[in-house]
Amino acid sequence: QNERESLFITLNFAKDHFVENLWEVEEGKNIGLTYFKERGFSEETIKSFELGYALDQWQGLMDAAAKNGYNEEFLEKAGLKIVKEDKAYDRFRGRVTFPIHNVTGKVIAFGARTLKSNEKGPKYINSPETELYTKSKILYGIYQAKNEIRNTSNCYLVEGYTDVISLYQAGIKNVVASSGTSLTEDQIKLIKRYSENVTALFDGDKAGIKASMRGIDMMLAGGLNVKAVRFPEGEDPDSYSRQLGGTAFKEYLDDHSQDFMSFKTDFYTSESNDPIKRAESIREIVQSISLIPDPIKRSVYTQQCSNMLGIDEGTLIVELNKLLIKENKSKY
Ligand code: ATP
Ligand code: MN
Ligand code: MN
Ligand code: MN
Repeated sequence: QNERESLFITLNFAKDHFVENLWEVEEGKNIGLTYFKERGFSEETIKSFELGYALDQWQGLMDAAAKNGYNEEFLEKAGLKIVKEDKAYDRFRGRVTFPIHNVTGKVIAFGARTLKSNEKGPKYINSPETELYTKSKILYGIYQAKNEIRNTSNCYLVEGYTDVISLYQAGIKNVVASSGTSLTEDQIKLIKRYSENVTALFDGDKAGIKASMRGIDMMLAGGLNVKAVRFPEGEDPDSYSRQLGGTAFKEYLDDHSQDFMSFKTDFYTSESNDPIKRAESIREIVQSISLIPDPIKRSVYTQQCSNMLGIDEGTLIVELNKLLIKENKSKY
């Protein structure tokens, strides 16, 4: 039995332990389960994502693991135990837990949210990188979503754990989260295993929109067809789907999905009609087009850009070619 196998077994034990806390232990039921239900998660949803609760104790998991004969060394290597000087304690304490599954459904890490509104520490904490878990290579929800992504040939991309879970509960099961970090090439490749089409649903705040611009460019460069949806200020897919209800939310997505070009154009030109700003925004869009690997798609988007913004196509092509040369791509 190799080390990886031992780590999988240890993480699975931790997951079961947190799930048991949530459903069987008073503290977990009163605090954790109540919290999830107040967020509108059904029991079925809570079970399908194997959500749990880590007791507010220093060694709740460590003690349970020892009692069941688990090796302490693997708790540490799995990222579940922190060793500092001569002290050892659980990483996750007094938080609800979101297991992160690999594509085959095995638990490789956890995210955990505090329930205290006055928490001084971070709202979410995560497992550290381990032999099994490389943050940049996984997307939260991929195990639950992969078949539906293939069947619908579209992948909704959101920021957070709770966005994935709320959409899933609303019947939108082709959804994964980047978990708050900027998207990586490996994550894009992971999506491409199941579909070439992505619809980005980022939070309707400054950080979310900024992240969506970067994320869109990354996805275009990865050869994905990219759409995006904007949400009202202050809303994220989780809050907005609960506000509208599943049916109206799905309609909202259908009505507000824009291809990347309209999304970016709207974003940049809604700001002002100032000619200099307009020129800058056109440059941004041409920059995005230049990232698309397929020359035919580039050409289609260049035409569309010319029509939408009323700019001579020849001018756009000249700019595009400058960028393509820089990126070592064949010219227009
Ligand atoms: P909630 O609705 O539970 O308050 P959220 O999912 O809307 O949370 P955001 O603040 O929008 O939270 O962050 C999006 C995602 O970024 C989170 O789901 C989490 O994966 C990650 N994240 C947020 N804050 C942190 C943090 N302090 N450290 C690490 N990851 C974080
Ligand atoms: Mn946010
Ligand atoms: Mn939220
Ligand atoms: Mn959010």
